[in-house]
Amino acid sequence: MDCLFCSIIKGEVPSDCIYEDELVYAFNDIDKQAPVHFLIVPKKHIDSTDDLEEEDADLIGHVFLVAKKLARELGVTNGYRIVNNCKEDGGQTVNHIHFHVLAKRQLNWPPG
Ligand code: IMP
Repeated sequence: MDCLFCSIIKGEVPSDCIYEDELVYAFNDIDKQAPVHFLIVPKKHIDSTDDLEEEDADLIGHVFLVAKKLARELGVTNGYRIVNNCKEDGGQTVNHIHFHVLAKRQLNWPPG
């Protein structure tokens, strides 16, 4: 199965990596929507949030702790947004679960 984010994690497709551990890979989004906009991608291939299992609970908790750690390291002091787009109506375009972290500008609500 061809998966862009699996290829990025394996180093087969270049990325602007900012963090990696045994569970997740984080890199700057190629099409930044804020001064800080990176993606945190679990290394385990899961298609979407809708495909999560109970056994993935710790992994997703880890994603949020990594988001907090990286935001601090990048000097984010005034808050940030974590976004997960799930499947077609959610606006997901890459079918490997990932979490956007956006910061350093005022973000609007509601989303489009
Ligand atoms: P989604 O729409 O929530 O699935 O988000 C996919 C994100 O991946 C988009 O924000 C894209 O800009 C980003 N993206 C797609 N290809 C690449 C890449 O090769 N490097 C970094 N980000 C990418």
